[in-house]
Amino acid sequence: MPRTPLIAGNWKMNTNLGEAEQLALAVARSAADVMEREVMIAPPFTAIAQVADILHDSRVILAAQNICWAEKGAFTGEISPPMLKEMGGTMAIVGHSERRHIFGETDQLINRRVAGAMEHQLVPILCIGEQLAEREVDRTMAVLEKQLRVGLADITVNEPSELVIAYEPVWAIGTGKTASPEQAQEVHAFIRNLLAAMFEKDIASQIRILYGGSVVPDNVDALMGQEDVDGALVGGAALKAESFDRIIHFNG
Ligand code: PEP
Repeated sequence: MPRTPLIAGNWKMNTNLGEAEQLALAVARSAADVMEREVMIAPPFTAIAQVADILHDSRVILAAQNICWAEKGAFTGEISPPMLKEMGGTMAIVGHSERRHIFGETDQLINRRVAGAMEHQLVPILCIGEQLAEREVDRTMAVLEKQLRVGLADITVNEPSELVIAYEPVWAIGTGKTASPEQAQEVHAFIRNLLAAMFEKDIASQIRILYGGSVVPDNVDALMGQEDVDGALVGGAALKAESFDRIIHFNG
């Protein structure tokens, strides 16, 4: 069974309310004619209610940029799965490299976020990726294996649609440097094999693995042409309606 491609836009800490509304409208229009592909956006929390209204009748999935495991309580700065669901959100980015490297989130903490999202039927997009220094000393696969095994510890996956993985080499995020299609495919195949060792083979073969790291209109077709690249997690280019439209309409 072919995996449904997912193009996901992470707006990070960008857009005021007016900009968010304009961009959400543009994405909703872009996605209207896209069949057999999924499109997702993760706006900043300050705009999520307004963006949710705009996406209501669209084909665009609403996501959070992060999610807590608890339903409510003393977790300053966090939002809970029920809060996101109340807004109509169904997915959440978890373990983004900026959360790991700027805010010090560990694999263990990220595992709690993955578990919390799934307990509430939200789909986590678990981000993993090596830093440049790790790639240079040939530690890429070891780093990814740890992030995946600890990040998914004690997680049960009953349906492949319950979980998405995003491979985002840290050296490629926001830098304009992209992994070559071959580099991405090599890592994605490695991730898929690991998933097969952790979950049932039939499920692992259907879990979507996105590539993220300076995806732009000029490189999306080649990346999406790789067998195990099932979509893209897009930062900078997701903030420009035209670029994101072209990425959504990748050829392949
Ligand atoms: C990201 O934020 O996940 C990302 C991949 O950013 P960019 O596309 O700007 O590299």
